[in-house]
Parts: sequence; C-alpha cells; structure tokens
Amino acid sequence: MSEELSPREAMEFDVLVVGAGPAGLSAAIKLKQLNPELSVCVVEKGSEVGAHTLSGAVIETRALKELFPEIDVGLIPLATAVTDDKFIFLTETKAFTSPINPPQMNNHGNYIVSLGNVVRWLGQQAEELGVEIYPGFAAAELLIEDGRLVGVATGDMGIGKDGEPTDNYQRGMELRATYTILGEGCRGSLTKQLETQFGLRQDADPQTYGIGIKELWEVKPENFKKGLAVHTIGWPLKSDTYGGAAIYHFGENLVSFIFVVGLDYTNPYLSPFQEMQRYKTHPAIAPIFEGAKRISYGARALNEGGYQSLPKLTFPGGVLIGCAAGTLNVPKIKGTHTAMKSAMVAAEAIAEALAGDKPAEVISYAEKLKASWVYSELHSVRNIRPGFAKWGLYGGVINGAVEAFITRGKSPWTLHNHHGDNETLKKAKDSTPIVYPKPDGKLTFDRLSSVFLSNTNHEENQPAHLTLLNPAIAIDINYKEYASPETRYCPAGVYEIVGEETNEPRLQINAQNCVHCKTCDIKDPTQNINWVVPEGAGGPNYPGGM
Ligand SMILES: Cc1cc2nc3c(=O)[nH]c(=O)nc-3n(C[C@H](O)[C@H](O)[C@H](O)COP(=O)(O)OP(=O)(O)OC[C@H]3O[C@@H](n4cnc5c(N)ncnc54)[C@H](O)[C@@H]3O)c2cc1C
Ligand code: SF4
Repeated sequence: MSEELSPREAMEFDVLVVGAGPAGLSAAIKLKQLNPELSVCVVEKGSEVGAHTLSGAVIETRALKELFPEIDVGLIPLATAVTDDKFIFLTETKAFTSPINPPQMNNHGNYIVSLGNVVRWLGQQAEELGVEIYPGFAAAELLIEDGRLVGVATGDMGIGKDGEPTDNYQRGMELRATYTILGEGCRGSLTKQLETQFGLRQDADPQTYGIGIKELWEVKPENFKKGLAVHTIGWPLKSDTYGGAAIYHFGENLVSFIFVVGLDYTNPYLSPFQEMQRYKTHPAIAPIFEGAKRISYGARALNEGGYQSLPKLTFPGGVLIGCAAGTLNVPKIKGTHTAMKSAMVAAEAIAEALAGDKPAEVISYAEKLKASWVYSELHSVRNIRPGFAKWGLYGGVINGAVEAFITRGKSPWTLHNHHGDNETLKKAKDSTPIVYPKPDGKLTFDRLSSVFLSNTNHEENQPAHLTLLNPAIAIDINYKEYASPETRYCPAGVYEIVGEETNEPRLQINAQNCVHCKTCDIKDPTQNINWVVPEGAGGPNYPGGM
C-alpha cells in the first residue's frame, strides 16, 4: 500500500470471543451468567449470526441443557425430536439396513436441527445477557505483545484488488481484551497462526479432517418421515476412502442431506462434490428426492483427528475452544455438544481467572476440560476413526465394533493419526481418473448452480483471500504432478485451470465463489494455499433451515 496507514481505533473488553458459532456464543453466555459485570464481545465474519453456520445436524442436547436448565429444545425453530434411526450399508445397487445401530449412531433423545437456527437463538440469548456481538467483522490479525495475545484486529474494509485503498476505505479496529477466546471452528485461520506461534501442536498427533457437503431439500409429503435420521456407508466411495452420508427429515417436509469424505483420500481425481451427486442416484436414495426442490447448498470441513489430535488449549492471553481445538466426536459425527461444553468450561476458568490474580495463561481450563465429560467421551471413541485410516472400510468396521461392543473404549492402546491430510495424495500418474456422470439438473447438479444456492457474496474489488505462498507451485507441482486436485476438491468451483489449449496452463482463482469450507487450506499437497479472511460479511449467507 502506498500511503501510510492511519492508526486503528481500539476497544477494550474483559473477554473477546472470535467466532459466533455454538462454541463462541456458549462461552459468551456462560461468562455473563457467571458474572454479568464482565464486558464480553463476540466478532463474527458472517454477515449475521448463523450466516456461516453449516452443519448436519442431529444434536445431543446435554450441553444446551447444562447452559439453560429450563430450556425446551423443541421451541428452537425447526428443532425436531429424532423418532427413528437407520444405519445402512450401500452397494452399487442394494441397501442393507443394519439390525442394530452402532451405539455412536443411536440418536434416541437427540434433535434434528438447523444449527444455523440454534446459533441464531443462542445469539439472541447472548445479547439479552448484554454480550456485544459484531457480525460482519472478520478477525484478520492477531495482536501479540510481549509474547501474549492481547486481542485481534478486524480487517481493513475497502482495499482494492491492487492493494490500494478505494473510496470505501475504512481502517480495521483493534479489539483488545484481558483474555481472547478462539472459537473460529474447524481450521480457523488465526488459530492456525497461534498453533505455530505458541507451538500448540508439539505434543499432539496431526489434525485430520473431512469435507462435509450439504443440500437442504423440500421433499414431497409422501416421502417425508418426520424425525427419521438415516446414516449410510459404502457406495459410491471405495473401501479405501472414509466417508458416508446422512439424511435427516425435520420441520415440515425438510430433508438435510449431508455427504462427508475423509480428506485423507489418496486419488487426486476424486471429487467429493461429484461423489455426493452420484450418491443420490442410488435406487434406495433417489426416490426420497423424487419431485423435490433443492433449497440450499453449502460445505464445511470438519475435524476428524479426535482425542489424539487435540492441541495444547491454552497460551498466554487466550484459549482454543470447540472445533477450533478439534473437539468433534467423529464416530457420532457430532461436535456441537462437545464444542459448547468446552466453551462453557473455558468460560468458567476465565471467569475465575478474572476474579483472581489474572494469570497470563488460564491453564485451569485444560485441567477442567480433562475432568469433564468431553474428555471421557472423546477418549472412549479415540480408536475408531484411525482404524478406518489403517485398515480401510471393512477392517475399520470390525475395529469399530470391537471398540464399541467389546472393549467399550477401554482398549489399552491408542491408534495414532500419523500424517496430515495434505500428505496422502498419490501422484496423478499412479492414480486412476474417475469419470463422473453429467448432472441432470433435477436430482444431480453442477457446482456453479449449487454455489448460487449458498447465497455467497464477496466484494469483488478486494485482495484475494485465497493466497498462494508461491504461485509457481500451482503449475509446477499441483498441475504437473497431481493433476490440480484443487479443481476437484473445492466444492465451489473456485479453482480452474485455464490456458491449456495454448499450452500455457495457469490457475485461475474465482475467490468470490468461496464458501469458506477451508478444504484447500487443508488438502493442498504442499500447503501452498493459505486461506485468510476476506472483508467482513463476505462468504455464504446460509438461510434459516441450513
Ligand atoms: C457437514 C457437517 C455436518 C455436521 N453434522 C453434525 C451433527 O449432525 N451434529 C453435531 O453435533 N455436529 C455436527 N457437525 C459438527 C458441528 O457443526 C461443529 O462441531 C460445530 O459447529 C462446532 O462449533 P464451533 O462454534 O466450534 O465452530 P463453528 O460452528 O464452525 O463456528 C465458528 C464461527 O466462527 C466464525 N469465524 C471463523 N473465523 C473467524 C474469524 N477469523 N473472524 C470472525 N469470525 C470467524 C465462523 O464464521 C463461524 O460462525 C457437522 C459439521 C459439518 C461440517
Ligand atoms: S476456495 Fe477453499 S475454502 Fe473456499 S470453497 Fe473452495 S476449497 Fe473451500
């Protein structure tokens, strides 16, 4: 930038929370419940609370009921009690329903929700308690002074593509706090920096991930089974690829369809989006969507590393909570209850620290979390997901059954996550291209018409938020060695190779389509793609119901 930057205005709080997800809002609410005098601020990059929330979701209500003992969960808009559960194994043409549900998939007492609606409801409760929530503000920069996190700066607005201020230029704000809580969710961009800065991952296994892609449908009444939660494994994924689908019937004629692919997949030609589209053509699945209308679309990465991959949770001036830390229970595909509980425990530790001698690092949070049900729950399922990485689908199912029914999570061993998901791709020359069927526009779709349904919007005249550390690598390594896997794993069609016809291939980045799933930041083989926050309020605008 050619001009000297003006100083930023600063605001001071007792506690600053980055991210208005279930974790961030639960932390803010708990802090105010414990001490109404505390000043608590939440910043959220989405245009409104819930705009960036993308989840299944069947939720366990344990944490919600601990936070609001009087709550009637059914009063949250669209929340629907689970009435029936099915676990199905698919081959290409057949569906085998398991006579017993794996214990992790037992959803008795759980609710099918739109997590966006839950988060909007939590936002209202937080505001009623006096929490200051600022949606539309992305935390872009860590403020670290004397080795301590003292807050964050929100991004400058109105910087043009060329890096120069436009007529709309507005300097970001410094939000300073005694303690900062990172609740950015899976693969947070500031969390990633903090992990490096404070060596938080030194004693943990690498974090591993999945990409979850979701469609929200309104189905015909005769195909709707209110309260039914279906989980499937098997086709169309090969047995060496972890993943599966979930179909939840909720509200009135609404169906949430979620497809997850473990990001440790090895074939660079695999497209999670196309696998999802193909899945719907299965003879046991297609009838659900017969004559139905697709309402919304989105995608988001989720943590799969579990207990072994939890980083150090505290550092001078701050803590990590929820999926920013990686508290998701993978076999259950549920992370909301554990994210909320970790946030509530962090809030208790921070409230005590503020009432006491304000230590730089609130280590009591990690100790309290270890003693809470979050740790015992995550510990008991720790060997299930790594079993699939080690032995594939069939060995993984057998190992999962042993863990669930015989040793009941008390096996004297721990299977480890040995490498990051960026390390697992084979070279294109050693892989088989996959031919996917063309979309029919009724049951199956292309990516651009899908992204349209996510209401994604970014100010076009701004610096790219998908940055390449070394632009040459996009062609020299990604294109030449891996056949540009980012053009397939990105669920929003952001990455395109152009210029092949003149033998001048180059990577075109359509950043305005990005739905903030973070998959490219995770899966890029050389970690050359670095996702940073765009201007606040940019990104998807998921409607209520998603
Ligand atoms: C496809 C899918 C299906 C799932 N299904 C289920 C399910 O059925 N049941 C269940 O319990 N869980 C499910 N989960 C997991 C669940 O959604 C997460 O565990 C939960 O949302 C974690 O909450 P969180 O608050 O930690 O993170 P998030 O919900 O990700 O919230 C983080 C918030 O922080 C904001 N943010 C991030 N970075 C910044 C920044 N720098 N500045 C400002 N704001 C920022 C984001 O916009 C977001 O609003 C699913 C997840 C996925 C992806
Ligand atoms: S560009 Fe990256 S973060 Fe954005 S949608 Fe594509 S894969 Fe996800």
